[in-house]
Amino acid sequence: MQRPRISGRDAIRPAGEPRRRNRLAHELGMSIAHKQLKAGGDGAPPPSATLTVLGAGDAFASGGRLQASYVLRSKSANVLIDAGPTLLAGLKRAGIEAATLNLALITHLHGDHFAGLPFLILEYLYESPALRRLTIAGPRNLESRVWAMFRLMYPKSPAERVARKLKFVTLKPGTRSRFAGVTVDCIRTPHTTGDVSLALKVTTDGKSLVFSGDTGWTEDLVALSANADLMLLECTYFETEAAFHLSYPRIAANLERFKARRVVLTHLGRETLRRSGEIGLEMAYDGMTLPL
Ligand SMILES: [Zn+2]
Ligand SMILES: [Zn+2]
Repeated sequence: MQRPRISGRDAIRPAGEPRRRNRLAHELGMSIAHKQLKAGGDGAPPPSATLTVLGAGDAFASGGRLQASYVLRSKSANVLIDAGPTLLAGLKRAGIEAATLNLALITHLHGDHFAGLPFLILEYLYESPALRRLTIAGPRNLESRVWAMFRLMYPKSPAERVARKLKFVTLKPGTRSRFAGVTVDCIRTPHTTGDVSLALKVTTDGKSLVFSGDTGWTEDLVALSANADLMLLECTYFETEAAFHLSYPRIAANLERFKARRVVLTHLGRETLRRSGEIGLEMAYDGMTLPL
């Protein structure tokens, strides 16, 4: 999470512009949300994949939401997507056993997205030793950062017992990676500098989820959304415009270009929550379950 260079809507928008844009965004969002609602309904076959939102908050846990963590479950795999520091609370509230995870995907190396991994390792060490094997995939330097954090947090814990069960894999932007039952496409997002930040398309059992991670606006998100069953878009801001996070007006202005069947906002910041009455798209909450 970086600080915006500019904040305060008066400083960044011409007079009269915000109201009109926001109302348009709201109306557009409402029509899309209505379409999505009608597309569901009774008699639908059971989903072959389900996403559970463990934490829909931003780095500041705005509104009391847990920090970024999601679990995508299909017949083929249980995939953790991002691991905020509140990961264990999210897993236990949702009744998901840590030992049942097969794959963890990390979008970037900000604490609200990966600082839960030392706690997950601790869980495997003492509380969930049944773990057989977990692949942890993410941007370069993930493995060294995770172990550096763990050693600072629990210097005397015998983590080697868990380390043997973990396999770290580097996801390279613009490539496709295949894991057991899961395919992951990733693109680089304009969010971190130096370190790599990623948006992901995760496909399992014929269903696909696109997750923006943290990102500023990039046209690449439009292409990544093609044929997705569900798209989770970060929506940190409303009135602030930043190059490294999305705002609701920006999302709404581009909504019709996304080709995902359903769009849900997450990583909800203070501004977005305060103005939720003006938002016509679904907003994630902790414990939300989304069939794909
Ligand atoms: Zn971030
Ligand atoms: Zn974040």
